[in-house]
Amino acid sequence: MNEDDLAGRIARVRTAIRAAAARVGRDPDTIVLVAASKGTSQVQVDAARQLGVTVFGENRVQEAYEKFAPPKPGDDLRRRGEVHLIGPLQTNKVKRAVGFFDLIHSVDRLDLAETIGREAARRSITQAVLVQVNISAEATKHGATPDATPSLVAAVRSLPNLSLLGLMAIPPPVDDPEAARPWFSLLRQLAVSLKLSRLSMGMSSDFEVAIEEGASWVRIGSALFGTRRILK
Ligand SMILES: *Cc1c(COP(=O)(O)O)cnc(C)c1O
Repeated sequence: MNEDDLAGRIARVRTAIRAAAARVGRDPDTIVLVAASKGTSQVQVDAARQLGVTVFGENRVQEAYEKFAPPKPGDDLRRRGEVHLIGPLQTNKVKRAVGFFDLIHSVDRLDLAETIGREAARRSITQAVLVQVNISAEATKHGATPDATPSLVAAVRSLPNLSLLGLMAIPPPVDDPEAARPWFSLLRQLAVSLKLSRLSMGMSSDFEVAIEEGASWVRIGSALFGTRRILK
């Protein structure tokens, strides 16, 4: 991929984000583009950064360490930007994830929340997290079922070294983005009922609908980086 392609794709995604926000009277500055960079190279990440992308989402802890330096005191945060974990987190990777990721989107069970909380306490930091909801309650997906979400949210809120910012979901894949709308709407209603206001939802195929339904973070990979990157 050459950089002109990347620049064009980023510009198109940004325009689409603004247009979707405008359709529902939302301030586009309240929507964060998370560039889902799994399978991309560090060169692509750096190119995206040069083009103004500041937030990246990685699926695997190891791959994230290969592309992003751990934060250190005195870093220019505007230059490093943010790195989020958007993929599932195994308990044995928590030590490396806490403090490395600015936001962990995938807290989906109590033991994981508690392990993150212990590691954050050990380091005297606060780890920002989202609770991942299996919004369609499919047996094969990650995420707490909608029924189990209120108690998980309450437990996360009770952990002093976790800061719960909202909910995240990956609805089942659909051909027509409109078919994802009810899932996004359901996630928003669940969040409202739990007094949470920020939502991580929407990917390349359906982020405009997700924004119309209230997304705060959209996680976009192939619309930015193309589909020919090597998927790990
Ligand atoms: C890969 C991935 C995305 C981005 O998907 P695209 O369809 O490439 O935009 C978003 N969220 C998660 C959790 C992912 O794994």
